[in-house]
Amino acid sequence: MSDVDLPDLEMFRKEARAWLEEHGEPVPVAAPADTEEEASVVWGQGTFDVAVFHNLDHEEEQRRLLACQAWQRKKFDAGYAMINWPVALGGRGLPNSYVRAFLAEESRVVVPSAGELPPTSMGLIATTIAAYGTDEQKERFIQPLMRQDIWGCQLFSEPSAGSDLASLTTRATRDGDEWILNGQKVWTSGAMFAQLGLAITRHDFDVPKHKGMTAFLVPFDAPGVEIRPIKQMSGGANFNEVFLTDVRLPDSLRLGPVGEGWRVALTCLGFERDHSAGSSSNHTGGGYKQALAAAQYFERTGEPVVRQALADLYIQHKVAQFTNRRAAARLKAGQTPGPEGSLGKLMWTANMERTSHVISKVLGAKLVADTGEWGTYAWSEHVLGAPGYKIAGGSDEIQRNIIGERVLGLPAEPRVDKDVPFSEAQRAARA
Ligand SMILES: Cc1cc2nc3c(=O)[nH]c(=O)nc-3n(C[C@H](O)[C@H](O)[C@H](O)COP(=O)(O)OP(=O)(O)OC[C@H]3O[C@@H](n4cnc5c(N)ncnc54)[C@H](O)[C@@H]3O)c2cc1C
Repeated sequence: MSDVDLPDLEMFRKEARAWLEEHGEPVPVAAPADTEEEASVVWGQGTFDVAVFHNLDHEEEQRRLLACQAWQRKKFDAGYAMINWPVALGGRGLPNSYVRAFLAEESRVVVPSAGELPPTSMGLIATTIAAYGTDEQKERFIQPLMRQDIWGCQLFSEPSAGSDLASLTTRATRDGDEWILNGQKVWTSGAMFAQLGLAITRHDFDVPKHKGMTAFLVPFDAPGVEIRPIKQMSGGANFNEVFLTDVRLPDSLRLGPVGEGWRVALTCLGFERDHSAGSSSNHTGGGYKQALAAAQYFERTGEPVVRQALADLYIQHKVAQFTNRRAAARLKAGQTPGPEGSLGKLMWTANMERTSHVISKVLGAKLVADTGEWGTYAWSEHVLGAPGYKIAGGSDEIQRNIIGERVLGLPAEPRVDKDVPFSEAQRAARA
């Protein structure tokens, strides 16, 4: 049940289309669609971008972020940025069908994309603040994050805490009404452009590892925050190390109760899995439609092996889409993301891999030799980038563990440090 009077969906769609026609630049489409399907690809028209990660220099990355910000601000101001968010938080309180209708219409205009930071900021950080924030935190951060006035990123991973995130050692020490943070985070996507980090820290080393953690919202202009980009061999620098040295934060920037940092982290990771899964229709890398367009253009659709691979890709894409809708309905009903999100994330990474497989068959040598031909060599950025998401947000192996234990109820992996104070487990590991 929605808490607002629902506008007629078709009327909403027409208004959105009119607004998009006025404010956006159309992409070439095969036919105007009145369905929830995204626009088809017209071979040879427009820019062709199926990169999973963009290897850009700092200036180009900034330029793209600002373009993305400008578009998001227009959407926000017109009421299209928080369609399914609760009215109390500045949203319109509409069901997800309205979001899907808007996204289908939006796929007909050129939408600036700028890598991981905007979706992380809006889809993970803002949503986690909505789940755990105080009224003051919600008021201060959610709308600025959703309008992209500020960007937020995830300060989770550390050099010795990735898959086993609960082994993190960034220390939070209470000092009256303040906290002092010390430690190092790594692989922080987008930190060099962000203003805010959601950090998971350890405030108590003498209780079992999952119990001694607390989450904070860290403004990046606080003294003691140092961001160092990690230069990738591909040329870009999407990730960063973030050093926290005697960073003083008021208690009002603690997110969630003391000792509940693990729950905050799981919620954020759950949003990440749901969000990653939702990305199958969300412009990360290439997908079924682009692969089909290539197969048609190169006249490969008559070959049984290519037809079978394309049909498989289409079916799996649809299965993932429906699974995502179930997860979205769960969120809409006010539930936090559950272990089912792992299924969606696994399907998403598997579909990215499937897409790589199909397009490699279709393009052959054109995938690795840059002939300047539209819609061909650009796919190499999909094929090379897709494996990154088999690691980000919890690797495929970890998703399988979660599904095995928490969905299928299989016996848990042995965890010798589960009930042992973290400091003792660390000592035992060092011995
Ligand atoms: C594109 C990208 C973006 C990222 N962005 C961020 C970010 O913004 N913020 C952030 O905090 N982190 C980020 N990360 C880091 C990411 O969360 C970690 O890389 C991930 O959790 C894995 O940790 P690790 O790299 O330490 O690998 P490890 O944990 O050392 O794992 C190494 C290998 O061992 C396997 N493995 C480990 N434990 C088990 C187990 N129990 N059972 C079976 N197999 C296991 C893993 O699957 C993996 O194959 C990003 C990573 C990538 C690739």
